[in-house]
Amino acid sequence: MSIGLSTRVWLVLTIYASPLVGHGQARPLPGPDVQQIYQRLLPQIEKIPIFDHHAHPGFADDPDVDAMASPPGSAALRTRDTNPELVAASKALFGYRYNDLSPEHARWLVQKKAELKKAQGNAYFSNLLDKLNIEEGVANRAMMADYLDPKRFPWVFFADSFMWPFDNQRERVRNRDEEVYIPLQEKMLHRWMHQENVDKLPADFAGYLAFVSRVLEDNQKKGGIAMKFEVAYFRSTKFGDPTREQAEDVYQRFLSGGIPSEKEYRTFQDCIFRFLVREGGRLHLPVHIHSAVGIGDYFSLSEGNILNLENILRDPRYSSTVFVMIHGGYPYEHQAIWLAAVKNVYLDTSLMELDMYPSEFRHVLKTWLETFPDKITFGTDSFPYNETLGAEESYWLGVQSARTALAAALAEMISEGEVSEPQALQLAHCYVHDNAVGIYDGRLH
Ligand SMILES: [Zn+2]
Repeated sequence: MSIGLSTRVWLVLTIYASPLVGHGQARPLPGPDVQQIYQRLLPQIEKIPIFDHHAHPGFADDPDVDAMASPPGSAALRTRDTNPELVAASKALFGYRYNDLSPEHARWLVQKKAELKKAQGNAYFSNLLDKLNIEEGVANRAMMADYLDPKRFPWVFFADSFMWPFDNQRERVRNRDEEVYIPLQEKMLHRWMHQENVDKLPADFAGYLAFVSRVLEDNQKKGGIAMKFEVAYFRSTKFGDPTREQAEDVYQRFLSGGIPSEKEYRTFQDCIFRFLVREGGRLHLPVHIHSAVGIGDYFSLSEGNILNLENILRDPRYSSTVFVMIHGGYPYEHQAIWLAAVKNVYLDTSLMELDMYPSEFRHVLKTWLETFPDKITFGTDSFPYNETLGAEESYWLGVQSARTALAAALAEMISEGEVSEPQALQLAHCYVHDNAVGIYDGRLH
């Protein structure tokens, strides 16, 4: 089900226009009723069908689950395979009988999942969504898998590779992470070229842009609902504003070989990124951007800071492009929520509810719900980390964390006299489902 933008604006206005129940003025502390309110809200929130705005569903041995791979690096405490909550996940999803994930016990789990995959075939992941009350879940993948039902898993494809068409030798050797990432971008670009029957880069810049547009259009015809950038892993997210001629000049000089200087490469990329953003507006393909801390040893927090994108997000030339800031700018989420003041900018919470425990994530949600509740969306960032911590368990952890943190945040808001209980439940619907679905204006199943 989808509700249009105007309906949503009306809804949020209605929520806040109705008089508050009970109190005339908001209070700074919750009352003794907060625990009871939480207990009342949680089961109601669990009944709301979810739209998961960002995830990478698939099996651990499927190379198309992402357009890049994880280099060796450190994962935050909660996302390590030592997290005892994974036992609870395995119990809830697979009837796991043990209280630890010792190698011997984990083997039982791997075996159990293999049996279910065999028995359920292509319904395996859809059944998982049913179990978690997820109506639809975005599949942000290099390519779609035939074992995912496109009616339940709308595809979000990757658009970064168009920015790396030249000799990438210097880009690759910058550090160990880039040695993993850059060849995968090259591979992705070649897959797009193969898809369009292009065996070498077009002879001129206009031809290259036409090729990029054809890929976007064809991906949309194949069911793609949005394009995704994870550019912060490869370069700064501060984009300049070069002229088309400057980018064209770089293209002509390096199209058939030679290594552009860093400045030349960035000029070309800045232009391509802006072109893709404009195309997103023309084609009604929302632009998803990884906007948080990333994995690996060399991810630069300052170069990837969400606020670097402010000049793009607030540029009136892109006002018809919908932006979804994936992972909500974490750990700068407190500042990031103010970017949602821009009418075409949305913030997604995926990954935040995995990296943070619910007790901390509830503070983030509360601030966001109190600021732009009509512009925030839920996602899990589910991903098959390995055979035991699969996409299945990360779906469970994301959903459980968000539901409990949401119930806690809303319970406090009710107890502090900010919203009534019906208003709070309306906000819950908006966050876990309606806000995201509204972006795609009836283009989902
Ligand atoms: Zn992701």
